Order: sequence, then C-alpha cells, then structure tokens
Amino acid sequence: FNDREFDFNSLIKELTDDLQHTFDKHTIIQNLEYTGMVYADRERISQVVTNLITNAIKYSPHADTIIVYASKEGNEVRLCVQDFGIGISQQKQERVFEQFYRVSGEMQHTFPGLGLGLYISSEIIKREGGRIWVNSKIGKGSTFCFALPVKKIQ
Ligand code: ATP
Ligand code: MG
Repeated sequence: FNDREFDFNSLIKELTDDLQHTFDKHTIIQNLEYTGMVYADRERISQVVTNLITNAIKYSPHADTIIVYASKEGNEVRLCVQDFGIGISQQKQERVFEQFYRVSGEMQHTFPGLGLGLYISSEIIKREGGRIWVNSKIGKGSTFCFALPVKKIQ
C-alpha cells in the first residue's frame, strides 16, 4: 500500500532530519514554506528527495552546507536542493538525467556511482505529472529542483 496523499513539508522534514543524522559532516538547512498536501506516491517522492540530497552531499566534498527549499508556486509544490560543491558544466547539465550518464573525468574515480539516481528520479517525477531540472555552475555548486502539481492527475 502506497500513500497517494501526504503532507509535503512533513515528508521533507522527516527525510532531511534522517539524512542529517547519517551525514553529520554536512549541515543541511531546511527552508520550508508551508506547501500543504500533495497527491503523489509518497514512497517514490521520498526516493527522489533522498537521491537529490545524497547527490548534493556526495558532490560537495569541500563545502559543508546544503540547503533544502520547499515552496508553493500557484498549483505546484516545488522542492530545491542547493549545494556549493563541484558543479556541472552547462553542456553536461543537459545530460545528467539520462540513464547511466555520469560526468566523466577524475570525478568518476573519486565519487563512485552508477549514473541511475537522476534518471530514476526524473522518471518518477514525470510519471507524477511534474518536472525536474538543474541550475549549476562549475566550481560553484548546483541546485536541483522538481515541481509537482498539487491536484490529483485525472
Ligand atoms: P547513482 O546511480 O549512485 O546515483 P550517480 O550519483 O553517479 O550514481 P546520478 O545521481 O544519476 O548518478 O547523477 C548523474 C551524474 O550527475 C553524476 O555522476 C554526477 O556527475 C552528476 N551530478 C549529480 N548530482 C550532482 C551534484 N549535486 N553536483 C555535481 N554533479 C552532480
Ligand atoms: Mg546519485
């Protein structure tokens, strides 16, 4: 049984608190506007939020702050995860949601992974009728966001 209706802020707070506990070398700041209820698969959305926060931690080895934002914009709730880590070049930003895509170079050895987390996340968000995107600057950090419709998809 999966919950199809849940309080977005409670979920974000719960996941962030858990991850903060696990990754205590980073400081995860919560900037959560009240967003209300969301109609989506709670377990799958949890998986996306966890992927974004663990990436932010993984790809910020020398910066300790991560900021998690929740907001409501019109008929959408929005979640953004900002880090001040290694960043992604403009041309590679377009590819990070592809299956098995990993930014190549010395990074590949430093940060092991399969290149599936963002692909899976984007499939989940699309299935729920939402969008996922990234803003990033190499050497400055990245902000990954997704938006979900507040109303049930008919
Ligand atoms: P995994 O399948 O374990 O998640 P992964 O982290 O390599 O492996 P994705 O989460 O799909 O795979 O990310 C794809 C690629 O995008 C990463 O390999 C990395 O190059 C880049 N990337 C993702 N998140 C960030 C981030 N916050 N900062 C910089 N680069 C990132
Ligand atoms: Mg990942």
